[in-house]
Amino acid sequence: MSTNPAGNTGGGPSPRYVFAPAETVAVPVVGSDALFPVHRIYCVGRNYAAHAVEMGHDPDKELPFFFQKNPDNLSIGDGEFPYPPRSSDVHHEIELVVALSGGGKDIPLESAMDHVFGYAVALDMTRRDLQAEAKKLGRPWEVAKAFEHSAPCAPLVPASQIGHPTEGAVWLDVNGERRQTGDLNQLIWKVPEMISYLSSMFELRAGDLIFSGTPSGVAAVERGDRMHAHIDGIGALKVTVA
Ligand code: MN
Repeated sequence: MSTNPAGNTGGGPSPRYVFAPAETVAVPVVGSDALFPVHRIYCVGRNYAAHAVEMGHDPDKELPFFFQKNPDNLSIGDGEFPYPPRSSDVHHEIELVVALSGGGKDIPLESAMDHVFGYAVALDMTRRDLQAEAKKLGRPWEVAKAFEHSAPCAPLVPASQIGHPTEGAVWLDVNGERRQTGDLNQLIWKVPEMISYLSSMFELRAGDLIFSGTPSGVAAVERGDRMHAHIDGIGALKVTVA
């Protein structure tokens, strides 16, 4: 008999599935044995002005936009990133991840931060060639963004330990050479604004992760490259392209 994934104990027999349901994807929490169960992954596009410019856009003229990755695209902690198929131009994007412990619809700016559980360093790995083709043809971005292992993510640091950092260096080295640099204070859309705006379009829930966009300096990786991602006050992530 399968167990009920929602953990319900009352009200009739547990459901019987035609096959075992997928395991809940969860992220370790620094300083705790408890895991953070992931619901959805939202990603913000072009949220640092210098990156918007390097991708050919005017950051002053655009509202934020969002895409999603799948929870099971996460790879937790330091390790390997298998070079994905059907691409020869895979880019790194270092990002601050915001993890939600609550949600709702139409969350006001003033209470948005009440829903933040903590933060993590992550990579939004991108098949840039497939993204460029999708943009040109007006097609969706999943093939570029939501592939297996496309979201390496360090363990979450609870806000109860570090507060809510609004500044701090963001950088990514490849083989010891600095590729991306920025600062959390350069986010165009700040964390409460992202939460409030997103909640006007989706019903946010505990377990949602928000990838908050990347600073400039995105570039291609090759097999064997060692990526070292760091955000001051939040942590680091070391991933090798395999
Ligand atoms: Mn990104």
